[in-house]
Amino acid sequence: MAEDDKVFRRARERLVERLKSLGYIRSNRVAEAMLKVPRHEFVPEDLRDRAYVDSPLPIGRGQTISAPHMVAIMTELLDPRPGHKVLEVGAGSGYHAAVVAELVKPDGRVITVERIPELADFARNNLKKTGYDRFVKVLVGDGTKGYPPEAPYDRILVTAGAPDVPESLLEQLKPGGKMVIPVGDRHMQELWLVEKTEDGEIRRRRHGGCAFVPLIGEEGFQEPES
Ligand code: SAM
Repeated sequence: MAEDDKVFRRARERLVERLKSLGYIRSNRVAEAMLKVPRHEFVPEDLRDRAYVDSPLPIGRGQTISAPHMVAIMTELLDPRPGHKVLEVGAGSGYHAAVVAELVKPDGRVITVERIPELADFARNNLKKTGYDRFVKVLVGDGTKGYPPEAPYDRILVTAGAPDVPESLLEQLKPGGKMVIPVGDRHMQELWLVEKTEDGEIRRRRHGGCAFVPLIGEEGFQEPES
């Protein structure tokens, strides 16, 4: 292992230990996944030395890679299992999709939709250089409408703040499926776990405050005026 990789690996171990001790990581499965995925490969080159600080980082076009504790909280709530088909809305850097891929592989996969083409390219490159492109497909589009050709999904992960749960995403969730989505205004939201029971009933539970960039699209917020 190159010296750089060893340094990053140690930093990642320390971060995961900290997220465990603070109660954000609750399962060995999520701990293992976050230990495996090299976050420094998903941030811009000049920010690599901050990859294992528990904070969001800019990835261009006014967007961010979420803070590791938020990735941990959302992944624990989502509870992806081997074999699951997962839809992510908001690929960003591709990091969270890679963490979920660790939990659904080898038979499951992740379809992630990104509205900004440059970021979709950034995510694709990051996933390719780390080998996660085998399990993750990156698409460009408005993820508020989901992605009907691959529906229904066992799990849906929305990584941008929505005004409400998009109806299309509810429709594309399997009975027995789970969705994690921040719901609120353009700046502050609450994390919701939305479950569809086997007989199609929808249950929502709130899991604390968060601050995501807005989900912009037909079933989200309107594009900001420029
Ligand atoms: N999951 C990402 C990661 O691991 O780096 C972080 C996502 S970032 C907080 C939110 C992303 O959602 C941004 O890249 C933004 O462009 C994207 N986004 C916002 N509205 C969207 C929409 N309607 N469809 C798809 N992506 C959207």
